[in-house]
Amino acid sequence: MPRASTPPASAPAAPPAAAPARTLSAPAKALQKLGLTHPVALALHLPLRYEDETRLTPLADVHAGDTAQVEGTVRECKVELRPRRQLVVRLLDEAGDELVLRFVNFYPSHQKSLAVGQVVRVRGEVRHGFFGREMVHPTFKAVVPGAPLAETLTPVYPASAQLPQSYLRKAVAAGLQRANLHEVIPPELVPPGLPLLRDALQVLHHPPPRTALAALEERTHPAWQRLKFEELLAQQLSQWQARLERAARRAPQLLDKPQAEQAHSLSQRLLTVLPFGLTAAQQRVVAEISADLGRAQPMHRLLQGDVGAGKTVVAALAATVAMGAGWQCALMAPTEILAEQHFAKLVQWLEPLGISVAWLSGSRKGKVRQAHLDAIASGQALLVVGTHAVIQADVKFARLGLAIVDEQHRFGVAQRLALRQHLSAPAPDDAGVLEPHLLMMTATPIPRTLAMTHFADLDVSTIDELPPGRTPILTKVFTDARRDDVVARVAEEIERGRQAYWVCPLIEESETLDLQNAQATHEALAAALPQVTVGLLHGRMPAAEKAAVMAEFKEGRMGLLVATTVIEVGVDVPNASLMVIEHAERFGLAQLHQLRGRVGRGAAASVCVLLHTPPLSVSGKARLKAMIETTDGFEIARRDLEIRGPGEFLGERQSGDALLRFADLHEDQALVQRAQAAAKLMWERHPHAAMAQVRRWHGGHLDYLQA
Ligand code: ADP
Ligand code: MG
Repeated sequence: MPRASTPPASAPAAPPAAAPARTLSAPAKALQKLGLTHPVALALHLPLRYEDETRLTPLADVHAGDTAQVEGTVRECKVELRPRRQLVVRLLDEAGDELVLRFVNFYPSHQKSLAVGQVVRVRGEVRHGFFGREMVHPTFKAVVPGAPLAETLTPVYPASAQLPQSYLRKAVAAGLQRANLHEVIPPELVPPGLPLLRDALQVLHHPPPRTALAALEERTHPAWQRLKFEELLAQQLSQWQARLERAARRAPQLLDKPQAEQAHSLSQRLLTVLPFGLTAAQQRVVAEISADLGRAQPMHRLLQGDVGAGKTVVAALAATVAMGAGWQCALMAPTEILAEQHFAKLVQWLEPLGISVAWLSGSRKGKVRQAHLDAIASGQALLVVGTHAVIQADVKFARLGLAIVDEQHRFGVAQRLALRQHLSAPAPDDAGVLEPHLLMMTATPIPRTLAMTHFADLDVSTIDELPPGRTPILTKVFTDARRDDVVARVAEEIERGRQAYWVCPLIEESETLDLQNAQATHEALAAALPQVTVGLLHGRMPAAEKAAVMAEFKEGRMGLLVATTVIEVGVDVPNASLMVIEHAERFGLAQLHQLRGRVGRGAAASVCVLLHTPPLSVSGKARLKAMIETTDGFEIARRDLEIRGPGEFLGERQSGDALLRFADLHEDQALVQRAQAAAKLMWERHPHAAMAQVRRWHGGHLDYLQA
């Protein structure tokens, strides 16, 4: 077993051996730009494809369409002027067969190296041309007869304009030589039949002749499997590491017990105040969360449940457990509208129980904000609701016992990371070093493979049942041409005492255009529906104005609400039964599902109309099809993953960090399972090697993988 002191192969890159940056050559700079400064980085820069220069094909055997390497003697080399000026070279091999080489662009140097009598080695694609079988612009070099051939296939690397292939080949070969690629994984944990890491990389860079090229290209070759296994194992190990580290930390034990002079606990009292009973699924997840809160280790639990499944009340119950035990609770939502709505609901539920709820948001400033900050710092405010303003550095909690994050997927990777760090580093005067419990909620369920990999350090609770009495939402897709019919439908719905949303198209990268568009749509709809109160809601409105519009809609004084995606998450107005989404093809699948989830929250049958402008792209079509075919959030998530791939799904662009370079969660599920099993054994039996593996693969990026 390698010792822990063995330097990790991908330790922070030492500056390249070359001198200061300004003296670097252009290709050396290009290498640096690609991050290829360290031997391991170079060794992991894998070829895109290979060229076979290990064999010579007799001229008699080359056929149009083949790419081949041939050798022959130049018999003729002349410039022809018809059909255009070009250099035509006739090549003859030992068997007396002939091939024509043709160059439309050529220099005197061409004529020199391809002089009559010269033996040349040529590589290119053969085709049927004007002169019979020919190669146009092949690569060639003059050789002495019998010059040795390449012993392995020649790698072709992803390169850039400033980085010639030949330079890159040399750099990678040198990196491969120098890289520390000793075996870190104990041999018994490597799936049988896979090569050593060094050998695997050797094969991937320099495959011996007759290697199954298809297996290399499809990444099924054992060498590929080994590399993928390394990567997946490192990822599993880092998740284990996060879990173990968390288990070693301390959190307050929040026990759901009756307080002084009360017969029941705070959460039991909340249950009696609620206008409905919990579904079986809600009861189950509340029990799971309560059990975690009662432990002395910090909970990191993800609560997933489809839109409308009733996560808010679960959050409220968790909050009462914390508050009942005498600790503070923070509830954070991604938008002011949503935070405001939670605030209103929690006030309604909790004030009758004598709990005062504080409200913090980015738009609340000055003295009022300071008063709230004081109440939080003194511990007087037990429950604090707000946007991410809740975790800003100047917000000091006296005794934060539980942090709840709603619509967790809407927070960027960096924000999630900041939250975790904020929580796991409590101020030293915080009753010892007790870390708050963390509950994250999302309506975007995580498909199984992702749950096994990227979220393996979280515990997951799932609400898999909707509250009773809901009628499924009917989804219809129309082209823009049917817009007038849709407007008529809106009028009917409002006539019947229902309410409707009209979500405006999203215009990529331009908030200003979004806004103009929403305003224009609002005007047009207000003109078309004179008998209806039509409101407008968009992200640029001052918070107070937004709140006023939302209140008017919520209280039923507004029939139609034209909005941008600010209403995407969480908004809960059960009387709304019609959702129109314009240019639905421009929205992501998860977003469409979220938007649709704004209706179907009451007993009335609800409809979601997706308007689109043809022609649809392939993925646009797939998204709309998925919306028609299912209302199940899990199925939506599965299809979304299929359409977009895991990187996009997880927002890898946000983190700027590829999540998996080599493995593919879809195709490599079997390896994921093996890696998961191996990770467990490796932590138990070879902890030093486990840490070395994590360092080798993740180096400084570990944090991002945990966010
Ligand atoms: P989400 O999971 O999308 O956050 P909400 O918490 O907003 O869902 O709940 C959706 C609606 O269902 C709300 O109006 C809520 O009060 C109501 N609700 C939640 N749980 C139940 C239940 N067990 N029975 C009836 N209605 C419920
Ligand atoms: Mg919600």
